[in-house]
Amino acid sequence: MLAMNSRGRWLGLAASVITVAILLSGCGGGQAINAGHPPPANVDFSKRKALVIGVDGMQYEKLQEAITAGQAPNIAKFHVAKTYIGGIVGSPTEQATYSGPGWTTILTGAWANRHKVTANDGKLRNQADSVFKLIKNADATRRAASIVSWNTINDNFARDIDLGYIDLAEKCNDVDQCVADKASGALRFGDFDFVFAHFDEPDKTGHAVGFVPAYQAAIQIVDGQVGQVLTALHRRQQTHSDEDWLVIVTPDHGRALPDGHHHGGQTLSEKTTFIAINKTANAQLNAPVKDPADSSFNGLYGNATQADIVPTVLAHMGIKLDAANYHVDGVPLTGALGVRQLTAKADNTARSVTLQWRGPDAPSGMPLTIYRDGKQIAQLSDTATTYVDQDLQEVQDGAVDINYSVMLNEIPAAYLARVNFSALVTP
Ligand SMILES: [Zn+2]
Repeated sequence: MLAMNSRGRWLGLAASVITVAILLSGCGGGQAINAGHPPPANVDFSKRKALVIGVDGMQYEKLQEAITAGQAPNIAKFHVAKTYIGGIVGSPTEQATYSGPGWTTILTGAWANRHKVTANDGKLRNQADSVFKLIKNADATRRAASIVSWNTINDNFARDIDLGYIDLAEKCNDVDQCVADKASGALRFGDFDFVFAHFDEPDKTGHAVGFVPAYQAAIQIVDGQVGQVLTALHRRQQTHSDEDWLVIVTPDHGRALPDGHHHGGQTLSEKTTFIAINKTANAQLNAPVKDPADSSFNGLYGNATQADIVPTVLAHMGIKLDAANYHVDGVPLTGALGVRQLTAKADNTARSVTLQWRGPDAPSGMPLTIYRDGKQIAQLSDTATTYVDQDLQEVQDGAVDINYSVMLNEIPAAYLARVNFSALVTP
């Protein structure tokens, strides 16, 4: 794009280098991970922390316009890449492009067939393992905060709050400045390992007036509040220079064309999101698959997804989960990659499930292991890209979910398949 070479963009990039250098400053552990290589063995993961900033309903293309116009200088400091939300249409992962399902995916790495928050409903409770739970279970001394403008998010995670997985839960009642102030305070003066801060203004303005200058102004305002939070983090690092913070800025959904008032449906514009990240990303974010198995939405499914955020946080913090019982749908956006684009499709007549995936461009020679509901069922070479599970005679008739996980390069990926072996006699 023309603006890429404009003076404003160049200045933005220069600022980016400085800011990222600040955020990465500290000991050797602060170096960005080389894509495709594990971090050095001497990393002190207790100093690895993460900040996820949610920007509700911020449209990727409108953010790009704002960046080009110099109206989003803080988010522009990050590497911004196109992603998608809403799962794959017509598959078990499909979910409405509403905020409830979207934020729950962002905070669990799972689609709604696992997390069960299928709508904007504060009475729904997340059923998947949240990032808060996974961090606390890995190390009970690690602390998390969830500070939200849209209170429903913390309602959906009420169990995580009750069980002590979220140490600080703040509802800001639709007041974004409250989020900026509380998140800044938590970063500067608190002792948190994971902070989620959610801003709502782009969504509210979008619903009210659509894609008009006021929507761009909302992006600009929230970008300024993101800047306030990043300044607090910068100040923290002046006295905590040994900490290495992953920072991600991301929305929960796009907006429907032509006017941007609505969302919730399955259109390219509503499904398109972005992930802005302060670290060197791997191929999952930087090299979208050109020919995904489902080529719908102009190949959108070749991109990373909002489900990839939790695995990225876990990878950064050095949290490894049991591959046999892995229930996270996304894959990490930094460091080593295992398989990508994992799907598992039932053939109800043949009583089988066909798994498909993409392997790394450069095979490592390590074996690839497949698990079904916690049990190893196959070990294949790392060049394999498909497996047919026919050992399903004991699965009961009717709709049944089966969890598959595939481990390669010590990085697991999972997919929750839905079989319905009595499909022919079901009304
Ligand atoms: Zn909305």
